Amino acid sequence: MKTDILAPVQYLKGIGPKKARLFNKIGIKTIEDLLCHFPRRYEDRTNFTAISKLKEGETQTIKAQVLARNVRESFHRRGLCIIEVAVADESGKIFCVWFNQPFLKEYFKVGTSLILYGKVERYNDRLQMNSPEFEVLDSEEETGGLDAGRIVPVYSLPDGLTQRAFRKLIKYALDNYLPKVGECLDYDIRLRNNLLNPAQSLLNIHYPESIDLQRRAYERLSFEEFFIFQAALALRKLRRKEKKGIRHNIEGKLEADFVSSLPFKLTQDQEEVLLEIKSDMAAPRAMQRLLQGDVGSGKTEVALISCLICIQGGYQSAIMVPTEVLARQHYERIKSQCLKATKPQGDAINIALLVSSIEDKEKKNIYRQIAEGAVDLVVGTHALLEERVEFKNLGLVVIDEQHKFGVSQRALLPKKGLNPDVLIMTATPIPRTLAITIYGDLDISVIHSLPLGRKPITTLHFKYQEKQKAYSIVKEELLKGGQAYIVYPVIEESFALDILGAKKMFEELKRHEFKDFRLGLIHGKLKTPEQEAAMLKFKNKELDILISTTVLEVGIDVANASCMAIEHAERFGLSQLHQLRGRVGRGERQSVCILLSELESEEANNRINAMVKYSDGFRIAEEDLRIRGPGEFFGQRQHGLSGLRIANPLSQLRLLKRAREEAIRFVSKDPQLGLRQSMLLKEKLLQRFPEYEKLMLVG
Ligand code: ADP
Ligand code: MG
Repeated sequence: MKTDILAPVQYLKGIGPKKARLFNKIGIKTIEDLLCHFPRRYEDRTNFTAISKLKEGETQTIKAQVLARNVRESFHRRGLCIIEVAVADESGKIFCVWFNQPFLKEYFKVGTSLILYGKVERYNDRLQMNSPEFEVLDSEEETGGLDAGRIVPVYSLPDGLTQRAFRKLIKYALDNYLPKVGECLDYDIRLRNNLLNPAQSLLNIHYPESIDLQRRAYERLSFEEFFIFQAALALRKLRRKEKKGIRHNIEGKLEADFVSSLPFKLTQDQEEVLLEIKSDMAAPRAMQRLLQGDVGSGKTEVALISCLICIQGGYQSAIMVPTEVLARQHYERIKSQCLKATKPQGDAINIALLVSSIEDKEKKNIYRQIAEGAVDLVVGTHALLEERVEFKNLGLVVIDEQHKFGVSQRALLPKKGLNPDVLIMTATPIPRTLAITIYGDLDISVIHSLPLGRKPITTLHFKYQEKQKAYSIVKEELLKGGQAYIVYPVIEESFALDILGAKKMFEELKRHEFKDFRLGLIHGKLKTPEQEAAMLKFKNKELDILISTTVLEVGIDVANASCMAIEHAERFGLSQLHQLRGRVGRGERQSVCILLSELESEEANNRINAMVKYSDGFRIAEEDLRIRGPGEFFGQRQHGLSGLRIANPLSQLRLLKRAREEAIRFVSKDPQLGLRQSMLLKEKLLQRFPEYEKLMLVG
């Protein structure tokens, strides 16, 4: 009897417990997973090349007969076994060689017909194929002709399996389980979008009858993934709109006074975004808004104003950031900005800091104040998520640098209130079209422009032999009264990888190159107070240069810092480089960012060129997405993107939009997913998004 498609792979003929474990390791747990383990690429083996026409250096397919076979042990290396087979067609002959696979010799009896596929190389003065893939033609019935004479799939394999063996398993699974694959797309949807059915699609994604059918299979399977993903987002959005939220009082003196006390005028983008936020806050549902904007575009200012709106109506607000240093910095900055701000009753605003390094006794005190409602605004890290943190009336939650938190973590803080408003901020902005589809459950606001008067940062690239040039630029900046960061990818140097570390270079630069200047060191292994102290000294201009690792990446704000040198720039991601660069150019000074690196790979090359060429965060993010692909870019934990095994939001944006429209239409017709045609979709949603179960499916 055949088992269900959701049964463990082990139920499949040919997979025992040991193999099953290897399969599990690469994420193949069920038979369905196996069917959805799509080929990495294909090889077109539909055309045979005559042996006399074979070209050196190219991968080609031939059809030939075995002339002779020779198995020998190597004299030079004990245990090395070489199988050498001479094969011929009408046009000529060629040698094929396999190493250390003695069991293969059974296949190569003289006279056997083979299809061989491999790269043709010159060895001494003859051409040969090294370890070509092959198919024994006589036994074609048995193997189903999987490896040659057609478009052949190539997979990422579990440990210890060959392409050949894996293809056989896939074939077996297809033959036996295709009829059990259900259809979660409505007939109408399929018709409107001209999509293949699931069985046709799976068959043609693994064993394409033609390139065209492969393309249609790819489209159908991608559409389905997008559809499920978008249905989840649409459902979440629907559920949220049904929930009652807080109606904030958006007209008040606290906010107005604060805004007019600022030493600058809000930019037009900031004004517009604030209007959007206010309208959300005034509405009787919970805001879920994503605020996108480049580093330094003034998001934090907007967030703070939103908090004040919340506070003037008598509610508490919380700001969560990813690191302790950042939390402290925000806390100090907000406290000094709000010195004169008073609540309607005339009291000052009470702002608290909550991070894990705070002493227990003090923490208890803060917990109590938060619970009693004595704290109006708390700034903190993950420490805010602890169970002991209870609010009296949490009205607004701000989450900064959302990509540093997982989706489920992000959902925890709002749960500490009764449907509070939520503002999520990101400094890794992406194009709006993509943002809408990826963050489909959130409303999106964007700050495009930087505050007036910011001077664009000059970005330069130097190779290591030009390091002196880089150092002299740094010195020039320092002599002009600016300050500099020098950033390293690691704390301790690595001889093995030939990379410099922050600690050693701090000592070295202090003694030699920059001995006339004052240097400080900051990295992640230092305790927070030590990091703090270094930051403070730098901020107070008691240091000229801060040597650092990527702890700088998020949020450090020193307006006088006008120069940054990044060593081994090739070892940083593009968005990371951009975040780092955002630490300079924050004040009046014309700033410079120097990337030091030998170009080692094409990808590193692309990243560095993008940095030199673009300063706009949207552009950078777009490039980064293109270079890394969406999975890496967004991180697997986020957005349900991990459910996308084949679909690519970047290259298939049009398809994604169509799937999104269909999903929204479908879900709005049956928001409870109670109808018969919604059953399978519901099942798949639960399968893919277990963490959202309650959110999505409980009415
Ligand atoms: P982000 O959070 O987007 O990185 P911030 O809100 O921290 O940006 O703003 C960066 C710096 O610019 C801060 O010093 C802030 O006080 C200042 N700033 C914010 N808005 C404006 C504005 N409209 N005009 C001038 N400076 C501004
Ligand atoms: Mg910020």
